[in-house]
Amino acid sequence: MIDTIDVASQNEEDFRQYLIKNHRDKPLPLIGRCYNCDDPTKGNFCCMECGEDWEKRKYFKSQKIKE
Ligand SMILES: [Zn+2]
Repeated sequence: MIDTIDVASQNEEDFRQYLIKNHRDKPLPLIGRCYNCDDPTKGNFCCMECGEDWEKRKYFKSQKIKE
């Protein structure tokens, strides 16, 4: 069984690489709301933290599929 918190810290560097790789070539469609917290915003996210949070969740979700 994998401890989620442990995995998170172990994969922090992997995640950074993933962010750098995926952040630019895949623009998200603008929906008028923050993808992370649903606040109204002109961009995809209302703030940088939300953007990172959302990417992180997406990343760890994709990691979980392997189990
Ligand atoms: Zn937000």
